[in-house]
Amino acid sequence: MINLELPKKLRASANQAHQVATEIFRPISRKYDLAEHEYPVELDTMAAMVEGLADSGTQKIGGAAGGREDDSESDAHATELLGNSNGGNMSALLNALETSWGDVGLMLSIPYQGLGNAAIAAVATDEQLKRFGKVWASMAITEPSFGSDSAAVTTTAVLDGDEWVLNGEKIFVTAGQRSTHIVVWASVDKSLGRAAIKSFVVPRDAPGLSVARLEHKLGIKASDTAVLLLQDCRIPKDNILGSPEVNVEKGFAGVMQTFDNTRPLVAAMAVGVARAALEELRAILTDAGVEISYDTPPNNQHAAAAEFLRMEADYEAAYLLSLRAAWMADNKKPNSLEASMSKAKAGRTGTDVSLKAVELAGAIGYSQRTLLEKWGRDSKILDIFEGTQQIQQLIVARRILGKTSAELK
Ligand SMILES: Cc1cc2nc3c(=O)[nH]c(=O)nc-3n(C[C@H](O)[C@H](O)[C@H](O)COP(=O)(O)OP(=O)(O)OC[C@H]3O[C@@H](n4cnc5c(N)ncnc54)[C@H](O)[C@@H]3O)c2cc1C
Repeated sequence: MINLELPKKLRASANQAHQVATEIFRPISRKYDLAEHEYPVELDTMAAMVEGLADSGTQKIGGAAGGREDDSESDAHATELLGNSNGGNMSALLNALETSWGDVGLMLSIPYQGLGNAAIAAVATDEQLKRFGKVWASMAITEPSFGSDSAAVTTTAVLDGDEWVLNGEKIFVTAGQRSTHIVVWASVDKSLGRAAIKSFVVPRDAPGLSVARLEHKLGIKASDTAVLLLQDCRIPKDNILGSPEVNVEKGFAGVMQTFDNTRPLVAAMAVGVARAALEELRAILTDAGVEISYDTPPNNQHAAAAEFLRMEADYEAAYLLSLRAAWMADNKKPNSLEASMSKAKAGRTGTDVSLKAVELAGAIGYSQRTLLEKWGRDSKILDIFEGTQQIQQLIVARRILGKTSAELK
């Protein structure tokens, strides 16, 4: 018998995140949508709260962005799920989902919960986890010369004594201006190809790091998206994540592993936006006298109700796929296929549901009287960053057909 209920412990933290979304995010959602690049000062209170909790040992900083929990905690959770465990990935996923239901742009601006935190949690050594436990890390992969083809990194890292010297330009870095640290992908030896791509933790105050400019965007306007320059940027030798050895056999599986943690998280953000749009649409349809029935076949219902049921089924599928991918990560099961499946399905569902909700709500949906049009704009990025819809489908196809990236491009 499959039990799809969340365990009690996870329900409590999801409820907490939902409360933050309802009481802090929703009331300021439109304000920061209209004030792009303005810093959401309301988030400072949250930062102070998270720091306070971390100092008191009640909560781990960065944990909500794909943290790694120690075995004793996992064992405690294990009893709740008959031998299976839910750890940092699952609770991060639920937090991301609930806070994105509130506002995904603000969610991406929550201190200490950057995508770089998930990357650190995925590949850092225990010593690094301690050192980078209390940081807010963004993730810098994309460069002017590439987006989807992450093997095309041209930023370089050269060892000079006890320091790495980084040179290159990173574009579209989410929280690139506000985060305290940036996880940067760079090549330690371009002649060795993709195997030489490693990730490095660059502190904000590292000499040679600067913000060139911020982007104006269609949606997630509360989130800062920065262009970063690394000009002879110096960082300590042990800020490289994972092994510094270049293993040509293994390719760049090391850095790619970070996506196994971050893709389910982005999927959850899309699920959160989809749920917000469905709830708003249900209220609008109910007001208009459209009944949504779970006892009558969709074909015998109002066309809008039939559409609603189809969207809700897509939403459920996306939700369950993202839970599965995070659960696998927590249980140390290889999840690249499932992470991409969840991201592909949720990314598409987020845009499909939010735009269809605008359509079904008509003029009200298109106007600023509700947040539907905003969610329609916000959702598209979740189908683009951390790998586009098409790239996820490509990865799924490769995995299922047993093809390499050279065989199926
Ligand atoms: C608001 C925002 C925030 C971002 N945040 C970050 C961040 O924090 N860190 C970071 O590193 N990057 C970030 N990015 C960059 C993002 O990850 C890239 O935009 C994304 O990976 C796509 O790359 P691209 O834009 O160069 O598109 P391209 O790779 O040029 O792709 C263009 C189109 O072609 C399709 N395509 C490409 N290759 C294939 C293929 N082989 N088969 C089929 N279709 C294909 C793509 O799916 C897409 O539809 C962000 C971008 C935006 C807009």
